[in-house]
Amino acid sequence: MGQPFVVTPKIKLKQFDPNFSNGLDKDEIREETAQLHKRIGELQYLLYSNARHAVVVLFQGMDAAGKDSSVRNLLVHVNPAGVETANFKEPSSEERAHDFLWRIHKAVPRYGNIGVFNRSHYEEVLVVRVNKLVPKEIWQARYAQINAFEKILAQNNVILLKFFLHLSKEEQAERLRDRLQDPRKNWEFRASDLDTRAHWDEYQVAFEDMLNECSTPACRWHVLPADRKWYRDYLVAKRVVEALEDLKMSWPKPKEDLSKIKIV
Ligand code: AMP
Ligand code: MG
Repeated sequence: MGQPFVVTPKIKLKQFDPNFSNGLDKDEIREETAQLHKRIGELQYLLYSNARHAVVVLFQGMDAAGKDSSVRNLLVHVNPAGVETANFKEPSSEERAHDFLWRIHKAVPRYGNIGVFNRSHYEEVLVVRVNKLVPKEIWQARYAQINAFEKILAQNNVILLKFFLHLSKEEQAERLRDRLQDPRKNWEFRASDLDTRAHWDEYQVAFEDMLNECSTPACRWHVLPADRKWYRDYLVAKRVVEALEDLKMSWPKPKEDLSKIKIV
């Protein structure tokens, strides 16, 4: 259950097992994941030197689904100079004074860079929907607006990789408990996470609609089983390597004839 991870609508989230790991061996996969992370580091140099494409890796998921650690692990071998990260929190008053995609578009990295979105424009059809922050007509219209926006990005050499970290309610309880008990993790705990948890089922419906409405040929969603951190990291790394390799990049040709140049 749970394969394939690429969403070709219509899916039912209940059919995906958050604990799925394809019967793989944890230690073996850790090693393979480490190799994939190294490969991402190499491919990033090619991306940077060509500066023709930008890549954005986007994470959505419930609290404690692993958005932050996915970012940290994915980029362990990447030169930070070529990375642009964005954490989308509640919009500031400046952000609220603009259309909902303004802050998102501003955070899209320059060509040659890798961007990471911890949350994204999808909050506009998730928390905004569940907490009834705007009327239904408004959030409902956003699916099409998001699809149009992502198509523009795709047509302009911005590769957007969207990952939904699919966590079980039991595993979230474990992780939130851990945040409460471990002094090094206390800072990550917010009482509001429990309010969000109380709306678990409504969030699952909102996630399912998001996945079905916005997994387009221009930009697919991936549902990743997120209960096992090592398997989650493996799948993210594998997909990012694939996407970078699909660009078939080579080292840029010199702009002038280097054979005549002598360094004295
Ligand atoms: P965290 O990711 O734990 O730092 O929390 C960020 C909070 O900001 C989450 O509760 C999100 O739901 C919230 N948030 C992000 N984007 C929006 C948005 N567009 N409207 C309302 N709340 C948002
Ligand atoms: Mg949080």
